[in-house]
Amino acid sequence: MSGVVLSNVVKRFGEVEVIRGVDLTVDHGEFCVFVGPSGCGKSTLLRMVAGLEATTSGTVRIGSRDVTHADPSDRGVAMVFQTYALYPHMTVAENMGFGLKMTGHPRQEIAAKVAEAARILKLEPLLQRKPKALSGGQRQRVAIGRAIVRGPDVFLFDEPLSNLDAELRVEMRVEIARLHREIGATMIYVTHDQVEAMTLADKIVVLRAGRIEQVGKPLDLYHDPDNRFVAGFIGSPS
Ligand code: ADP
Ligand code: MG
Repeated sequence: MSGVVLSNVVKRFGEVEVIRGVDLTVDHGEFCVFVGPSGCGKSTLLRMVAGLEATTSGTVRIGSRDVTHADPSDRGVAMVFQTYALYPHMTVAENMGFGLKMTGHPRQEIAAKVAEAARILKLEPLLQRKPKALSGGQRQRVAIGRAIVRGPDVFLFDEPLSNLDAELRVEMRVEIARLHREIGATMIYVTHDQVEAMTLADKIVVLRAGRIEQVGKPLDLYHDPDNRFVAGFIGSPS
């Protein structure tokens, strides 16, 4: 079981408190989406789950472990960013296997995991290509493949589709939904896109200025937002 539990998490950068006491439970296998205006703290919160940013106070639990002070590599998480930073001199297969190679996994095991991720993401025909010979959507698929290969309990996505054009975004959204169904891992996904939030989420978290404004199922927030702010992000236009 590897849900994520945040308890009274606070983050200050110098004098500025950007996360102001967040309590949140993401259940095992749940698809949780963070929405909220630019600068409200979505990325910072996600980065604290990943261990890329230290908490100022509060605790982060993943599964049965308190990982508040654990290294990013020791949390069972993998993060997919908006910019996908593939190694240009490596093939798709090498890019996807690189993390496991660095941690000393045997070549055959890496090959098997890369093959499985390629199957899930329909990347098999592209495995020997270099990133420059891929489209933007294909590159983002490789970045997601790189996360799958690591076999994380929790996937963290920070606006992974916002660099793609509208048509590709729809295609990748369907892919991510299928990925979640197929591997059943816990996922936390940051987006600006209301349609992504509504269609992907089991649970939506609306953030405002470092605090949770409302948490709920997409349709509950849509039909019954607590206030105008939530309605502005998710609610029906009535
Ligand atoms: P979001 O992802 O919702 O747009 P962020 O989590 O990136 O918001 O940022 C939240 C706030 O924290 C913003 O005001 C941002 O300027 C500030 N911030 C983020 N990272 C740093 C940092 N490393 N140092 C100082 N301030 C930061
Ligand atoms: Mg952000």
